[in-house]
Amino acid sequence: MENLLQQTPLVATDLGEHVDQFDAIIIGAGVTGLYALYRMRQLGFICRIFEHGSGVGGTWFWNRYPGCRFDSESYTYGYSFSEELLQEWDWKEQYSGQPENERYLNFVADKFDLRRDIQLSAHVVSCVFDEDESCWEVHLEDGHRARGQYLLTSVGILSAGFIPDFEGIDSFKGKWCHTVRWPKEGMDLAGKRVGVIGTGATAVQLIPEIVKEVSHLTVFQRTANFCAPLRNGPIDDETQREIKANFPEIFKKCNETAGSFIHEFDPRSAMEVSPEERLEQYERLWAKPGFGKWLSNFYDVMMPGEANEDYAEFFRNKIRERVHDPVVAEMLVPKDHMFGSKRLPCESGYYDVYNRDNVLLVDVREAPIERITSKGVKTRDSEYELDVIIFATGFDAVTGSLNQLDIRGEGGKTLKDKFANGPRTYMGITSAGFPNLFTINAASVGNFVRAAEPLVDWVSEAMCYVRDNQFTCISPTLEAEDAWVNHVNEDGAKILRTQANSWFVGANIPGKARVLLTSPDTAPVMRAKRAEVAANGYEGFLLQ
Ligand SMILES: Cc1cc2nc3c(=O)[nH]c(=O)nc-3n(C[C@H](O)[C@H](O)[C@H](O)COP(=O)(O)OP(=O)(O)OC[C@H]3O[C@@H](n4cnc5c(N)ncnc54)[C@H](O)[C@@H]3O)c2cc1C
Repeated sequence: MENLLQQTPLVATDLGEHVDQFDAIIIGAGVTGLYALYRMRQLGFICRIFEHGSGVGGTWFWNRYPGCRFDSESYTYGYSFSEELLQEWDWKEQYSGQPENERYLNFVADKFDLRRDIQLSAHVVSCVFDEDESCWEVHLEDGHRARGQYLLTSVGILSAGFIPDFEGIDSFKGKWCHTVRWPKEGMDLAGKRVGVIGTGATAVQLIPEIVKEVSHLTVFQRTANFCAPLRNGPIDDETQREIKANFPEIFKKCNETAGSFIHEFDPRSAMEVSPEERLEQYERLWAKPGFGKWLSNFYDVMMPGEANEDYAEFFRNKIRERVHDPVVAEMLVPKDHMFGSKRLPCESGYYDVYNRDNVLLVDVREAPIERITSKGVKTRDSEYELDVIIFATGFDAVTGSLNQLDIRGEGGKTLKDKFANGPRTYMGITSAGFPNLFTINAASVGNFVRAAEPLVDWVSEAMCYVRDNQFTCISPTLEAEDAWVNHVNEDGAKILRTQANSWFVGANIPGKARVLLTSPDTAPVMRAKRAEVAANGYEGFLLQ
């Protein structure tokens, strides 16, 4: 990953031996970090965000690839903390694109005067706990140091881009990039022979956009995924008014669902209704926009078994209908994982791309990529000549961005070593031996902001509790941590998310321990658990 990070210029500010002092240091200015700053400031904490990028937005700053957009409904993803913001901001599309999302987060930063506490182009390279002073010292790449009683890592769940260790990348004579570092000025693809490696959610968004301008596209696929039509569209004035009048109901509904999305499962079993009724429901959901096809269906399509397989076959047949060449269609039909065991990529014309004469799908599970050559990509069977290679190879999820921070806690022990066999945390956000560290990047899943806002609220309330009770440190007990890790492993094994080889369990990264990286609990259960812990005087924590 070093090669990716080096592409970003850093502003070198030589502040000599001066060390800035804060109550809380927040790393990352994405949706989580921006809200953390807003909330902590409200509660009287003096904070500073250090952000590697030259702008705010996190995911929505970095992922500039064509086609990048929400698969959450825009108005369910935005912040809920300010009624004024909700009424002022107009989401223009049901599933808003990256440029608009980045504008939104810049709007938020300006509206709430957040920028004065954000240092951009500030790459944190290590974080060390000073046991004598009970505070964290953060080191930036430019030599700058800062200290804070608390350290909050809002460094993203999907922010550390990953490129497999292909031999020969440096020998490639054309241009290449990873989608998470798509250059601001764009990539010149017009009339070029372009190769895309990877067919996950990002590639599925990217490919239908770039195919319009390339001369030839080669897609290197390892895993065929279940993808559903997004069916994006503009938000008209009447719908806009309706949304704005109904935010309390919208957020209430989101907060009641397992993943904080607005879609609710049908409490009926797919196998209890007639085949005709079942198919009618599948088709009705298929015709609707967004994640309803995943999260509004019969509840048992999300459980291993007959219903899941029935719905998976419905999806497979949809792919077979769309792709004219039956051999190519069969390559695109997922057969090695259950429907719903991965986050569902949403597409806008993805399968149709494979009906074009200038597009080639290469199965790299059958004939693996052996190396990148000066001319292109060499698989076991062939060499593909390319002018541009795009790595849509995903992320070292959750712990990837944490490891890059080189966090050192009590006794100089590193979080990276501690997490070598999977995260060892209490509720995803704290870890024994790392006092006053809140790994807030690691605990939100689902419709992200719906989960991130209450999480940040809980952390800020815990900090107030420490302050108001004249403590200086909060850190989980080993017993609480062990119990949590057991819970993640035991209950994680029962859910669909751990059944596929996906980033949720680190399976996309060679050598990474195969462990559920997030909580196995639903969002309401997580919130209730945290509330109970707080109500019981921060049960499971040592307060000193
Ligand atoms: C392409 C894409 C589309 C997505 N779409 C959706 C969606 O539709 N709905 C949904 O719910 N979720 C979606 N997600 C999940 C997404 O990760 C979250 O929605 C959200 O953006 C995460 O916000 P965050 O602030 O926690 O982290 P991020 O937005 O990832 O921000 C982390 C920030 O930390 C900074 N950082 C990291 N390391 C360092 C360091 N060492 N020093 C300084 N700064 C550092 C990074 O530069 C980055 O700006 C998507 C993710 C991706 C990648």
